[in-house]
Amino acid sequence: MQQTTQTADPANASVGYGWCAWHQGNARGVRLISVIEQGSGPGTAGNHFACGPCRQAYDLVPLADRP
Ligand SMILES: [Zn+2]
Repeated sequence: MQQTTQTADPANASVGYGWCAWHQGNARGVRLISVIEQGSGPGTAGNHFACGPCRQAYDLVPLADRP
């Protein structure tokens, strides 16, 4: 079982207000997500922004948090 106990981490201090491609709406704290053939995503490959709840719901990893 995967458990995400992520709340507001300090690393996201520089988050902004923007468009979340996953729930199709504006949200605070969106992060840039690089999408590569994601079945449950928006369907198009490319760069999209996702808000916190959507990142947890779809198990998204922000581009900046990747190795
Ligand atoms: Zn969202």
